[in-house]
Amino acid sequence: MSAATFRPQPRQMLKRLRDVMAGPGSAQERLDQVVKVIAADMVAEVCSVYIKRAGEMLELFATEGLKSESVHQTRLRIGEGLVGDIGAHARALALADAQAHPQFAYRPETGEEAYASLMGVPILRSGRVLGVLVVQNKTRRQYSEEEIEHLETIAMVLAELVATGELIKPTEMLSTEGNAMLPSRLEGVRINGGLGIGHAVLHQRQVIIRRVVAEDADEEILRFREALAGMQSAIDRMIDAVDRDGAGEHRDILETYRMFAEDRGWIGRIAEAIKTGLTAEAAVQKVQNDTRARMAQVTDAYLRERLLDLDDLAARLLQHLSGDVDLLVDLPPADAVLIARSMGPAELLDYERGTLRALVLEEGSPTSHVAIVAKALDIPVVGRVSGILSKVEAGDQVIVDGDNGIVMVRPGDDVMDHFATAMVARQERQQAFAALRHLPAETRDGNHVSLLLNAGMLADLTHVEETGASGVGLYRTEIPFMIRSAYPDLPSQIDIYQRVIDRLGDRPVVFRTLDVGGDKRLPYFTYDDDENPAMGWRAIRISLDRPAMLRHQLRAMIRAAAGRPLSIMFPMVSEVAELDSALAVLAMEVARESARGASLPSPLSVGVMIEVPALCWQIDQVLERVDFLSVGSNDLMQFLFASDRGSPLLADRYDTLAPAMMKLLQLLVQKADAAGKPITVCGEMAGRPLEAMALLALGYRRLSMTPAAIGPIKTMVRSLDVAAISPYVCSLIESTDHSLRHKLRSLAKDHGVIV
Ligand code: PEP
Ligand code: MG
Repeated sequence: MSAATFRPQPRQMLKRLRDVMAGPGSAQERLDQVVKVIAADMVAEVCSVYIKRAGEMLELFATEGLKSESVHQTRLRIGEGLVGDIGAHARALALADAQAHPQFAYRPETGEEAYASLMGVPILRSGRVLGVLVVQNKTRRQYSEEEIEHLETIAMVLAELVATGELIKPTEMLSTEGNAMLPSRLEGVRINGGLGIGHAVLHQRQVIIRRVVAEDADEEILRFREALAGMQSAIDRMIDAVDRDGAGEHRDILETYRMFAEDRGWIGRIAEAIKTGLTAEAAVQKVQNDTRARMAQVTDAYLRERLLDLDDLAARLLQHLSGDVDLLVDLPPADAVLIARSMGPAELLDYERGTLRALVLEEGSPTSHVAIVAKALDIPVVGRVSGILSKVEAGDQVIVDGDNGIVMVRPGDDVMDHFATAMVARQERQQAFAALRHLPAETRDGNHVSLLLNAGMLADLTHVEETGASGVGLYRTEIPFMIRSAYPDLPSQIDIYQRVIDRLGDRPVVFRTLDVGGDKRLPYFTYDDDENPAMGWRAIRISLDRPAMLRHQLRAMIRAAAGRPLSIMFPMVSEVAELDSALAVLAMEVARESARGASLPSPLSVGVMIEVPALCWQIDQVLERVDFLSVGSNDLMQFLFASDRGSPLLADRYDTLAPAMMKLLQLLVQKADAAGKPITVCGEMAGRPLEAMALLALGYRRLSMTPAAIGPIKTMVRSLDVAAISPYVCSLIESTDHSLRHKLRSLAKDHGVIV
């Protein structure tokens, strides 16, 4: 048989391999046999097995074809050479001319210069690289997809032999790197703020696969189908439970997830793998390995998110296959810090909410589904902590500082004391804030201040009662759009807005129309890449270019209000003409609903976000057209100073308390006051006590912020005599200082303002 006509015969091969592996002899002898069998099967001159040893090394353990003296001598670091590259990325490599590859690392003791082509796959078990399996040929040959698949299946079987611990000591295979007992401080990125202390729970859903090669493929298919059905109904039950709890977004996320659980391609790939002779468990794990390898290469956020969902589903399916669906029962109940490579939203909801102190992810981004759910549950989250799973053991003490994106593993006593004190202080502060809930947000000199919430999920609304906020000053409607996998149709949109209005009762809510584009992308919407997305095709610009979308949204809001009050505002408006276009679309929708005989919102208030400096120069004309203004200080600041709000390099470069920004903010409040129109600040600065103090001094009386900021801001408000500081603050505006922060802080101190 020539290489060109080689067709893998998976089932016979797997059986042969299993017989050798279960046969007589030492583990090394069996492995020596195994490489011979594989080389013959693959029609390759060389077959080698490299096994991962302590110190991130891959050691040649057995070979057919390379010089025998190189066995146990040739070692490659993970990442070194082609073999190291396969190990580092856990992905297959197939090269017709291996030596021409820039990664090729020549090892003279092996004699491998005689072989031109190379195909290698990782030996994986439970997502970890145990080694690398390689075949080589003298001729320059192109390995087919089918052959790569076949070699991957063989590697699955081989993983069993490696994992028995007969080849290297089980202690050497332990996952933790270095000295596991030393404290370590790991940095990641902030995904959700807050502080959590607890004991590590490794979220790995490790299901040990005991059988890899199947006796009867039909029976395995049947087992797979049963497990799949079991998993699907478990997700249905989860959806029902969420319905009972009334948290709408969880339902949407789970429904997307449920959709993936029916994905034909995914199910088909598993069934195919079973037909090659693997057990159902091994087939699921093989497809999961493929998903993970793809994930490592995908940079598109949406696609990654989908692959994460598939990875999560595979883990869930394995549990159903093993009958171990109650994995969560033996979790330490009291204070879990969940550590995961990545996690699906449904998985987080699996855990007992009351026991979760924090979540740490090796991957994860602030817009991932799990992050959105974690925020709604108010759990601190740090993401992109590289290698965390290999540095933590279950039960280790862990501190998660979500505010600063820091994770401390096995902290020393002094660090522990420091954080325990910080936690207590934080809790005490929160209790003190909660006690303020029913007290008015009124300054010492009798000025009432409206403290409002920024929200974007139904779960955020639970904070309204908790904090005593007087309503929602900014409802970011793009959030419910972002967590869905498809554009929400009119009934779904009506449902979203209705729930929000119902939930808030008499308290007002301001709905902002879609602010997508920039970094906020809708998974189902195609964008051309803007060179400068924050200044690109986003927010009202998209809404006006796609008026059907805006009309849908406005129609849904009008219908949801059904005769009740409704406030709508438009984001990122740059000129009056743009505002007029948006108002015309709104007028059209109102007329349409009126013609239908629908009950129109009463009153209907319309506002505009002040985020683009150009609009400030048309503020008089703007005020003639709208009922209220809302200052988006995050964007206003970035455009005023031409300074990217997301750039860590510029984070401290310019200050919102700079005279120029203050002067503009003063102009806006003066204009709004003169026109008798309410003006709110809804950017981050409204939730910072010192900045909020300055805003009050300038004349602002409405601030909208994240729930956690309400307590500190109310405390500040109640300690402040506005009239006493206002003239001085206004005089500072003419200063040419870089920032007024320093002077304002001293002022607060002198006047006993709690900031
Ligand atoms: C702002 O820009 O200040 C604002 C509130 O809008 P967002 O943060 O959603 O861009
Ligand atoms: Mg904005």
